[in-house]
Amino acid sequence: MASPTRSTWRRLTQRLGIALLCLGSLSCGEKGPELVRRPSSPPPALLVRHVAILDVESGRVEPDRDLLLKGDRIAAIGLGGALPVERGTEVIDGAGAVVLPGLIDSHAHVTLHSGPVWEPAIPDVEATLRAYLYAGVTTVLDPGDSSPDALERRDRVARGDVLGPRIYSAGKLVTGPGGHPIPMIEATAPWWLSWYILPRVAAQVDSPEQAREAVAARAAEGVDFLKLVVDRIPEDGTRIDVASLKAAVEAAREHDLRAIAHIGNVRDALDSGGAGVSAWVHAVYKERIPDETIGQLASFGIPMVPTLAVWHSYADLLMKPRQPTQLEREIASAELLASFDQAPEGLPLLDSFGPYLEMLRQQRPHWGDNVRRLREAGVTMLAGSDTQSGVFPGASLHREIGLLHEAGLSPAEAIRAATLDAARFLTGGDEPSFGIVQVGKRADLLIVNRDPTKDIDALSDIRDVVLGGVRLIRTPIAAGGR
Ligand SMILES: [Zn+2]
Repeated sequence: MASPTRSTWRRLTQRLGIALLCLGSLSCGEKGPELVRRPSSPPPALLVRHVAILDVESGRVEPDRDLLLKGDRIAAIGLGGALPVERGTEVIDGAGAVVLPGLIDSHAHVTLHSGPVWEPAIPDVEATLRAYLYAGVTTVLDPGDSSPDALERRDRVARGDVLGPRIYSAGKLVTGPGGHPIPMIEATAPWWLSWYILPRVAAQVDSPEQAREAVAARAAEGVDFLKLVVDRIPEDGTRIDVASLKAAVEAAREHDLRAIAHIGNVRDALDSGGAGVSAWVHAVYKERIPDETIGQLASFGIPMVPTLAVWHSYADLLMKPRQPTQLEREIASAELLASFDQAPEGLPLLDSFGPYLEMLRQQRPHWGDNVRRLREAGVTMLAGSDTQSGVFPGASLHREIGLLHEAGLSPAEAIRAATLDAARFLTGGDEPSFGIVQVGKRADLLIVNRDPTKDIDALSDIRDVVLGGVRLIRTPIAAGGR
């Protein structure tokens, strides 16, 4: 580890100073790489010839098909070579490739920086959005975006004014007094910055009445989901009480909003499930779920987004050199990727969160096992990365899908967790217009070079990403894409 230096702290303070001046502005901070762009004049129709189609519902791959995209929709599917080529149609040879729906990250954070926790920086949010697309992620659920323009950004992306995956946003978090993420922010930011950030990041509620007020405020802002934090970080921290939790979920329902819960241990899962939340947006990661509790959790009938990638990332922090994946090398600079292996000593953050990191390392053997047993009891798993420090946008969803596979999901099931099942969850039971390759659905597609149902790693072997019928031009960093 490098020795603590004054310059590190000076740099930190400078960056945070810049942060304060820039908060709420998309144009501030270091510019991220371009990675993807739209062609200047995309063709009106796109025909992918002789491509195999992965039916994510059945998990079957149908060989040799033609796929016609018109506007932002899938217009027709036929046998290979059967669809006529109309004027103006761009034809792509899909031989050897497999097409599947664009991926869905059910726990993304579009405004969080992926660099080390000890090097805070203002992220280039639009570059983050492009990184998701580069990795084939065309829809995200952001369960916590405290920036003042979170919902405006969501709408700008939906209109096509900003290039990015479609965003479902929970906006500002609702937590208990002093609950997560308050202590983490206090540990990372100087008091003057905490003073500015804290009221904006989360509504801290201490009673059912305050909970109802906070939910009404989120509903008025127009969020897609209500995000409740039901976890203690650090371990001796505080948590929202059960009465406030129940009041929040009930109020959300009155406002036609579904509540989702960040949880940590079995108690959190039971309390939030009992209060009626619609999903757990983390797994139980702080303990092994007793066998006798598995059925009780499954009986809530709600999905779980385990976010295994983020826990592994923190458990490995500074324990061994970080091994970047190929996709991470393509979206992040070598310098950024290497910066995780050395932290300045004496960081207050690492001191205060040391026990938390140690807990993660101890609990690691239980994560996959909890997921496996919950699934066997009927709990639907959804893929989510929890993008943040060490968890790179888009690329980390591929890590998560691999970890879900390790936890017992077949490759096809892990892909379904990142496509159709997630789409159904996001649309609240309505048949979604995305998340499956079918005529009439949105032409948000990922085209890969090999069959990912045979080898899950093939999901990262990307040939093309299509967003709303437009084939994106992808340029990795290594190829000068900065
Ligand atoms: Zn999160």
